[in-house]
Amino acid sequence: MDPDYDVIIVGGGGAGLAAAHEALETGARVLIVEAGEALGGSTRLSGGHIYAAGTSVQRAAGVEGDTPQAAFHYYMTLNQFRLEPAVARRLCEAAPGAIEWLIALGIEFRPEALHVGGVDGIRREHVPTGNGAAIVAMLDAAVAGRVDVALRTRVRDLLIEDGRVAGIRADGAEIRAHAVVITTGGFGANPELLARHYPDAATHGDWTWYIGAPHSQGDHLALGEAAGADVTGHNRGLVLATPGFRKELEVYLPSWLVYVNREGRRFVDETIEYNIMSGVLRDQTGGECFAVFDEAARASARPDPATLESIKLGLVGTSWTPEALEGFVRERKLMSAPSLEALARQAGIRWPALQTTVDTYNADCELGVDTRFGKVCDDFKPIATGPFYAARMRGAIVCFTSMGLRIDEEARVRDKADRPIAGLFAAGESAGGVLGDRIFGGGSSMANVLSYGRIAGRNAAKLRQVNAV
Ligand SMILES: Cc1cc2nc3c(=O)[nH]c(=O)nc-3n(C[C@H](O)[C@H](O)[C@H](O)COP(=O)(O)OP(=O)(O)OC[C@H]3O[C@@H](n4cnc5c(N)ncnc54)[C@H](O)[C@@H]3O)c2cc1C
Repeated sequence: MDPDYDVIIVGGGGAGLAAAHEALETGARVLIVEAGEALGGSTRLSGGHIYAAGTSVQRAAGVEGDTPQAAFHYYMTLNQFRLEPAVARRLCEAAPGAIEWLIALGIEFRPEALHVGGVDGIRREHVPTGNGAAIVAMLDAAVAGRVDVALRTRVRDLLIEDGRVAGIRADGAEIRAHAVVITTGGFGANPELLARHYPDAATHGDWTWYIGAPHSQGDHLALGEAAGADVTGHNRGLVLATPGFRKELEVYLPSWLVYVNREGRRFVDETIEYNIMSGVLRDQTGGECFAVFDEAARASARPDPATLESIKLGLVGTSWTPEALEGFVRERKLMSAPSLEALARQAGIRWPALQTTVDTYNADCELGVDTRFGKVCDDFKPIATGPFYAARMRGAIVCFTSMGLRIDEEARVRDKADRPIAGLFAAGESAGGVLGDRIFGGGSSMANVLSYGRIAGRNAAKLRQVNAV
């Protein structure tokens, strides 16, 4: 008996829409089942930046000779080779194709907006005009009329028959398909799963907050596990450092801040990209540090010029203005003391180690050179005039989670015996093993979402031919 659909896609965010588009292109009959009121998920809220190497946008921007192979080597090295190479390689190879595909569908990537988002020194972070919302709107329009969509329908059960996934159960009905693609996003909005599977993010209690969509409840884990899926990526995802002043997204913090750990020592170039900072901060005692500055710095505080445009567009906020900082002192969110020693006592920073660190940093400020970590900064601010301030910093803004159903390079979900589960695919945040402990840099998640979403859709659609034989 012919099933109801060729492909059922569970979750209509970025990965689900990419999968639907590609399955439709092969002539498949596709159903998207979406828990929310509308399609889009976290993808709709996102910056939509996409990491890719070897694109026409790069060439137009004058970045010559970049290749997926170079990105693969960078990614594997960054992760100390603790990634399945075939899965990582396929991601690097598919990401430039995803950019060209979006361009062909009408998304604009201005060459001048291309920037360096990782620690590779190469402009690979592609910025779509209109951000993630534009990508969702365009994909939604591209599949409209060709796909069935069931909104406000949260899928909690797969139909499993004769060892293969044969469809879903939703709202009491059984709907059958040759293949099911799980693209329900991550579990950032589920505090219980966050505590279990991403403890480094959950450890900060009230500080921890998730910036994504409310339906990121981690349903992929239960759905996949019921089908015998292997799960991988414990404690992986992306958190951003925050002073916890407000629940407001701030991606880039001012370069003049000086971070010290509880031992009173600097431990990092404070301007290092967030793909590195999150891990370095996690490794400090208590998973935290302190941004230390003085009254002169507070009085002249301003965000970095690079973030001004995003602040103006309302995409991110800033806490780093003289008035705001004054307010945080009053609200006791920012520690303040007349002397450095009193500040160290209040914050629990080792003294006099802090004094030694500050002496070195102040000498570096005079030289205009960070002799310890090589921070490049055109706004070095010495820590010299009281009162002194310390903002506790924690990696507590959860951007996405990466623990998911282990897939192979064809986006097939693997079982615990490392065999593909017949009829089951996953992509995006629901897929495990694609994003490592260290991500490429800005745009990594969307590269995964679109690349593996497309691969999953194409391969899921092929099963109707396989099953027909
Ligand atoms: C503010 C913000 C900015 C970001 N900026 C970037 C960026 O610039 N670049 C980047 O790479 N990453 C960025 N990210 C992360 C990135 O956007 C996400 O990781 C990505 O969009 C996830 O896509 P997805 O398709 O896996 O999940 P989603 O887009 O969240 O889609 C999942 C869908 O599944 C639905 N769903 C969930 N459970 C069920 C169920 N049981 N049944 C049916 N439907 C279900 C959800 O409602 C949702 O629509 C950002 C995230 C946020 C929140």
